[in-house]
Amino acid sequence: MRKTVIAGNWKMNKNLAEAKELVNGIKSALEGKTLNADVIVCPPYVNIATVVELAAGSVVKVGAQNMYFEESGAYTGEISADMLKSVGAEYVILGHSERRTIFGESDETINKKMKKALEAGLKPIFCIGETLEERESGTMKSVIAKQVKGGLAGIPERDLAEIIVAYEPVWAIGTGKTASPDQAQEVHAYIRGMLKDMYSEAAAEAMTIQYGGSVKPDNAKELMGMKDIDGALVGGACLKADSFAGIITAV
Ligand code: PEP
Repeated sequence: MRKTVIAGNWKMNKNLAEAKELVNGIKSALEGKTLNADVIVCPPYVNIATVVELAAGSVVKVGAQNMYFEESGAYTGEISADMLKSVGAEYVILGHSERRTIFGESDETINKKMKKALEAGLKPIFCIGETLEERESGTMKSVIAKQVKGGLAGIPERDLAEIIVAYEPVWAIGTGKTASPDQAQEVHAYIRGMLKDMYSEAAAEAMTIQYGGSVKPDNAKELMGMKDIDGALVGGACLKADSFAGIITAV
């Protein structure tokens, strides 16, 4: 049985007081509930330590939204894997489409980050996804294949159990346009097939592949009901405790 994992990407939202309020709200909304999913929140860097403290003893685990691949040194403004570990982060989102497009991250950069995160004992949430133009021009699968191969280059099979893949069609992120369950399932099955070819059937079958793109409490169940969809990476709907908890309890 694969793990279902629901992760919330807070992006550049929530100051300290708001971050405290949100994590406390999520904790109380989930209290006493039997959950079928692991729960992760990814606040901005400056609030990670506080959120880790507040989430301690609850089902909520904490991740970061990015990191740099170097160990330490003259990289003004960057944060290392070791720093994230030292404040209690367990996960790190890597390769989010906003990092790829706004900050120009390449598959090669993302691959370096993946390797560094794994070496430091952080679990990457590795994001991939096509733009609308790529989907409509018929290059979707080759785009996804390049991202998967590039991001995972040189990563051995024994590390796969530490990685979550998040398929996020760029056209569905923050737009309110969700991929239909069939559209998402098609790509998830394609990704799992690639993992099988690159590694093994067992490794591919064990891999958690999340869907991301306008997931909400009212569409979560149908999406998560698809054979190869094992959870969600949530943006907008994770910023309110009720809607994030609503997605978690819907699955
Ligand atoms: C995201 O940014 O990863 C995301 C899926 O955002 P939203 O849920 O707002 O589409």
